[in-house]
Amino acid sequence: MQLIDGKATATLIKQRLADEIKQLTQKYESEIGLAVIMVGDNPASQIYVANKIKSCEEVGIHSELFHLSDSIAEEELLDIIDGLNRRDDIHGILVQLPLPRQCDPARVIEAIAPEKDVDGFSYGQMGRLVAGKESLVPCTPRGVMALLEHYGIQPAGKHAVVIGRSNIVGKPMAHLLLQANATVTVCHSRTADLAQFTRMADILVVAIGKADFITGDMVKEGAVVIDVGMNRLEGRLTGDVDFASVSPKCSYITPVPGGVGPMTIAMLMSNTVEAYLAQQRG
Ligand code: NAP
Repeated sequence: MQLIDGKATATLIKQRLADEIKQLTQKYESEIGLAVIMVGDNPASQIYVANKIKSCEEVGIHSELFHLSDSIAEEELLDIIDGLNRRDDIHGILVQLPLPRQCDPARVIEAIAPEKDVDGFSYGQMGRLVAGKESLVPCTPRGVMALLEHYGIQPAGKHAVVIGRSNIVGKPMAHLLLQANATVTVCHSRTADLAQFTRMADILVVAIGKADFITGDMVKEGAVVIDVGMNRLEGRLTGDVDFASVSPKCSYITPVPGGVGPMTIAMLMSNTVEAYLAQQRG
């Protein structure tokens, strides 16, 4: 069994990005700008946002944090996004979810100019992904693909099973694996006899949000197991995969923490560079 080291891979990707950003900002004589909008004081959001801002500093992206009151009216939030859409020095806009009840996340995400939607959550970017066109791909599934590539794991011809069908992880994950020529099965909470499918997986991607849900008896010998889950159990972070029983059966497995998580932020940096480049080229 080989451990997939997401932390080391993310560090390498960010180092390469830092070099690329230096060259690009000299070439185009302008900084790369990312606006991060956080509404309210959700503790998990605060940690994610702080890590995103820190990564921007590491790679040389100019970031601006808009920390807004959780009583903000939806229209006011939409006005702020509209202002950022019009700014030439802001190339990416990210709205940290969840939002307070009065703000409809779909409406807010759709207000971001598609070319600045570095999370890739808008219907425009999702549609492009499904159609197989170049797009800003949601960071977590993009991070999973980057890990597979980094470790020389070829999805082509393999049976990939994705558990979870959310718009931000499961669905884009399935499409990326399909584009990489895997045969893809998507499972969810209404799948009957889930283990029947997980046992068929050459590549198993788990994005459910239930601690230690996948156990050794559900996994085929030699499988590649990617654990996207991030669950807080008694103060510690744990994945959706029961690492102790699953890891002895795997050829490769991601740990939690230190697997997919760090890749998500590295991919956000990469998406912001892609958005900048596309905007420079017009
Ligand atoms: P989500 O929106 O809650 O979706 C969870 C998915 O899992 C749903 O499609 C649900 O099915 C399915 N599911 C729930 N219980 C199931 C069961 N018993 N059997 C089979 N499928 C089941 O969650 P998400 O946003 O996709 O996130 C999933 C996990 O990834 C969470 O732990 C989250 O914290 C983590 N995550 C990590 C990162 C990272 O950077 N590492 C980024 C994003 C998310 P239905 O559709 O039928 O309800």
